Amino acid sequence: MKSKVIMLRFGEIFLKGRNKSFFEKLLIDNIKAKLEDVQCEFVRTQNRYYIENYDESLTGELVSRMKKVFGLHSLSVATKVETNYDALNETALEYAPDVETTFRITVNRADKSLDKNSAQIAADVGAYVLGKRKGYKVDLHKPNIEIKIDIREKGYSYVFRDIEMCAQGMPVGCSGSGMLLLSGGFDSPVAGYRMARRGMNLCAIHYHSFPYTSEQAKQKVVDLAQVLTGYAGAIKLFIVPFTQIQFAIHEKCRPDYMITIMRRIMIDIAEKVAVANGCGALITGESLGQVASQTLQSLTVTNDAVNALPVFRPLIGMDKYEIMKTAEEIGTYKLSELPYQDCCTVFLPKNPVIKPSLEIAKKEQAKIENLEALVNEAISNVETVVLKPIS
Ligand code: ATP
Ligand code: MG
Repeated sequence: MKSKVIMLRFGEIFLKGRNKSFFEKLLIDNIKAKLEDVQCEFVRTQNRYYIENYDESLTGELVSRMKKVFGLHSLSVATKVETNYDALNETALEYAPDVETTFRITVNRADKSLDKNSAQIAADVGAYVLGKRKGYKVDLHKPNIEIKIDIREKGYSYVFRDIEMCAQGMPVGCSGSGMLLLSGGFDSPVAGYRMARRGMNLCAIHYHSFPYTSEQAKQKVVDLAQVLTGYAGAIKLFIVPFTQIQFAIHEKCRPDYMITIMRRIMIDIAEKVAVANGCGALITGESLGQVASQTLQSLTVTNDAVNALPVFRPLIGMDKYEIMKTAEEIGTYKLSELPYQDCCTVFLPKNPVIKPSLEIAKKEQAKIENLEALVNEAISNVETVVLKPIS
């Protein structure tokens, strides 16, 4: 018997204390959701999980799925073998490429019934590998290659080498739900990823100015939300028709305050839809000072339009470069890069105010006498798309 298994390690932080079973149940549910369409066995031990008895050609696919599960710390692809010294020797050798290098064997022995202790087994397997690999030298302190053997109780062992980092964070679902203001840009998808990583379920809201923004711009946002489902699980996306409101702003308000007022109305609508859908927070992709609408004064004036929910801005202290790098890592970069116009660029004033005053913003906004009716109409015409994870 010899088979590949995937060994999963969870972050220890959240598995302590009274809430341990709550976090762990969520984590296991989220892992199992990723394995729904795969024939395999999920094995739970005290400090690790294993995916076993699966079609080995799926190893790469399963590893990439597990790397998207928040709450997992790291993983290793291991070989499971019956515990006998020949099998351990042969399997360890498979993890030892024939090059010139330094190595060590590390043994962890839960099975105390064996006639040798961990140090003896490590020395014996090490000697075997040395005999077969002429370029090898033992280095116990800083080896290039460390082959690990985990000898379990029930007559089997796991042999592995590399530890691959997973996404870390907290299991999705442990921190309630957040409403992500999702544009087609680089930032907001990364903001959603960041909050899902802290355990939030996501809903998303997008403002669409048809026909000034295209079907493709809308599809781009649907596609971005779909990528996020790989991390966050199912996402309900609300698409709000925003054209009439933009017309009204354009017609009634000072051009330099247009963006400020648009932001205030966006966040107001987002909060109303959030509350109606059980979300306890709003999430935006704002980063301090990135553009005119993200100065301290602009953020203050936007924030004033929120009634009660906290607004999470996980990118507030990040540079554009860092955000783009994350976008690349999580797979949203290529979509965000597509050139379709966003509603913010429709009727864009030449010189938006950089330091808006709250008083002026409110006064300008009040010029749209039928704003409440327009907002209610936009909300009642929301298009809802439910996106389920593809894998
Ligand atoms: P992004 O890359 O997320 O588009 P940005 O750098 O383009 O951000 P802005 O256009 O100022 O910045 O938008 C700031 C934030 O406002 C966005 O991160 C997003 O959360 C929200 N937002 C902007 N436009 C829209 C939209 N059309 N629909 C929903 N949310 C939006
Ligand atoms: Mg944008």
